[in-house]
Amino acid sequence: MQELTTKAKLARIKENKRTRERNKRLNYSKTRLISKEYRKHSGRKYKVKYPEKLEAHNASRHIKSPAGKQKHHWSYNQEHKTDVIFISKALHDKLHTYLIYDSKFNMYRTIGGVLLDTRIKHNCYLMMISDINHEQILKLFM
Ligand SMILES: [Zn+2]
Repeated sequence: MQELTTKAKLARIKENKRTRERNKRLNYSKTRLISKEYRKHSGRKYKVKYPEKLEAHNASRHIKSPAGKQKHHWSYNQEHKTDVIFISKALHDKLHTYLIYDSKFNMYRTIGGVLLDTRIKHNCYLMMISDINHEQILKLFM
């Protein structure tokens, strides 16, 4: 697997949207369940590909999230392993749609390719993503 460029990420967002629409239209959630084996396999692949994410996940395990919130890492570097941001699941899902992971820096980039190398930059991007819809975000970066 290769890391995504802005163009590839935008294409993937479109493709995922089409896939979701098709799956809903054809009622796949009822007829095609993902096997436990497949899930185990892809989980293992993820851990091998991103050992720094696994390490940060384990290091922040003791941190308790406020009710209804999830932990989000803005950086997976050693010094930021326990520096997490608390966000709702819906916003967390939305945010990751518009983030590109850069394993050279162990940090994320915006969909436009700008490296979010401080917590403040990451929070500003998060606030922007939370305030605007899919079409507006795409318009900003196309
Ligand atoms: Zn996250």
